Amino acid sequence: MVVLSPYLALALVPVVFACDSCEEGEKSAYPRFTRRMQPQAEDAVTQPRGPLTWGEINFIHTSDSHGWLEGHIKERNYGADWGDFVSFAKQMKDQAANKSVDLLLIDTGDLHDGNGLSDATDPNGKVTNPIFQNIDYDLLTPGNHELGAVDVAYNTFTDFTAVYGDRYLTSNIDICKNCQESEPDEKEWVAMGGRFRHFTTKQGLRIMAFGVILDGTNNNKDMTRIQPAREMIQEDWFKEAANRQDIDLFVLIGHNPVKSGIPKSESTFPLIMETLRGLRPEIPVQGFGGHTHRRDFRIYDPMSSAIESGKYCDTVGWISLDGIKSQPANKTANPQSQDSQADKRGISDETCSKTKDFDMQLTRRYLDWNRLTFAYHAAGSQNILDSSEGLAVTKGIEDSRNSLNLTYVYGCAPQTYCISCKPAGDPGNIYTLVETAASAKVVNPDRSANSRMIIVNRGVVRYDLVQGPFTLDDSYIVCPYHNAFNYFPDVPYSLASKVLETLNKPKSTTKRSTMTMDTISSQMLGYDECDNPSPHNGTELLKPKTLFRRVLDEDALTQGYTTCDDLGGDGDDTPHSEIPEYDLPGHFQATAGFPEDGQPDTVDLIFSDFLASRIANALNLEGPSKNYTKDDGLLYLPVDFSTNTLIPAYASTEWQDNISECPISG
Ligand SMILES: [Zn+2]
Ligand SMILES: [Zn+2]
Repeated sequence: MVVLSPYLALALVPVVFACDSCEEGEKSAYPRFTRRMQPQAEDAVTQPRGPLTWGEINFIHTSDSHGWLEGHIKERNYGADWGDFVSFAKQMKDQAANKSVDLLLIDTGDLHDGNGLSDATDPNGKVTNPIFQNIDYDLLTPGNHELGAVDVAYNTFTDFTAVYGDRYLTSNIDICKNCQESEPDEKEWVAMGGRFRHFTTKQGLRIMAFGVILDGTNNNKDMTRIQPAREMIQEDWFKEAANRQDIDLFVLIGHNPVKSGIPKSESTFPLIMETLRGLRPEIPVQGFGGHTHRRDFRIYDPMSSAIESGKYCDTVGWISLDGIKSQPANKTANPQSQDSQADKRGISDETCSKTKDFDMQLTRRYLDWNRLTFAYHAAGSQNILDSSEGLAVTKGIEDSRNSLNLTYVYGCAPQTYCISCKPAGDPGNIYTLVETAASAKVVNPDRSANSRMIIVNRGVVRYDLVQGPFTLDDSYIVCPYHNAFNYFPDVPYSLASKVLETLNKPKSTTKRSTMTMDTISSQMLGYDECDNPSPHNGTELLKPKTLFRRVLDEDALTQGYTTCDDLGGDGDDTPHSEIPEYDLPGHFQATAGFPEDGQPDTVDLIFSDFLASRIANALNLEGPSKNYTKDDGLLYLPVDFSTNTLIPAYASTEWQDNISECPISG
């Protein structure tokens, strides 16, 4: 059940019942536009560039769904929901059977933290896990978000092994079987899922699969333990499994970045690829990664590669492979690693060319997560995409969204505010909005006469805020973290005014520019971003500013992913125009209550609680008369007013225009 904070609920009562047509107690939801998907979602307008290439074995890959099973309600590129995906998967399985080829479904973890549907329940995932399980995955493995909170880890362990059995792979993850209730005298560690899975496909291919998570995962160490990959590859079970003679293909799945050039400490894949190649030079390896929320494909050696398939239900990854059994892959006279049937419109070989030797007959494609795409590839007709199972899942998601009150509207966002498609300080940049909201709403009535400075870090925001109704669901999507506002009272302005500059000095900017979305979430949960720098530069974040034009030129490309990977620039199934990307500082500051003339002598220096040490250290650099520590930070507002409730509080007073007919088009 959703429990609105008393502080916020009080502020929002007039908003909830502001709708003329609503009966008392009814939610203020916005109107239905289309059938299927979720009622408020709209479908894409640009169809895929050509049919998929099928091989003797094919893979559909999802990763980092983070609870977005409703799809992207306000982004037409990614408007399909999990029910649509259920129908799509079924149709694709049927196609594979008709073609007498194999199709395996794979997921590589991070199932919640990022959407109201998964995060408005206790524990997270209570509603979304059973919905997710409507896909009959062949291989799955957890992400770091399944291994954080104790109850989430334990529920994942019991739920997923019960549903998927030996298909749930945890080659290097143990869980404490008797730790759920209290700390036992002696912990009983067991494998969280299967160490490996050996199986024969319907068409007779013999697969050996492993599921390996990255070594540096911020897991809950009391409940779970991760064996470093360098130790795992020394285990007898691993060597015996890898050396079996009845193997045609290794499938390596795991919550690991696949990006080129990253150190082994940040992905286990290079080490495991190298190890398998050493042990079995003749057997190809197909990898499936995750965690950095990118579309990416990497070639490790001429017979080993891996794909990463986006985030937040915006991408379905596709791999086709030939030459595994029908002909030795490394003896192919004319290796076919390009997708020959696809339209190459808008794709430049000059800016993104493939450079590595690769002997596999492989194609890869990144499908946009919408019904137009699903219908195009599944059946060629939207009318026959739907399955009864898929429609039931769609209905179940809609019912869950309603019962969790996720469609509850705080206000009507007058424009889209993106994380990095606009420069810092631009009205369309979301941190400009955060500063405005903080100035207006982060005020303690007992100290409102004091000048105040409010500092938050970049990680306070997880996703763009899209123009249209701003709902309870959006509050989880945009700012999911519940960090309270603390403060140092009466700080000399001469000191406080230097803090932001200190925090944003180039050293920390460099680290921030290489953070993953997951690292951002980790830092807000209390981890230091420096613990886990990662190679992701955020260039594939969606900036949906132009996605909602009502009149769309058929030849014009919508903004979206423009992926360049080791096979070149033709991986995106739907061509897109590039989204601008601006560098941002790591911290932002709002001010309020300043004198009209001159500067204040002292300010209340307010910050999200996570930043206490950082702010104290920055103040101490200026030689204050007292040394600050994080423990000097006092609670500025009740804990139920947090970074999560800041924008809802602002929307509930400032975004009341057009609330009953709130446009989502820009
Ligand atoms: Zn993730
Ligand atoms: Zn992750």
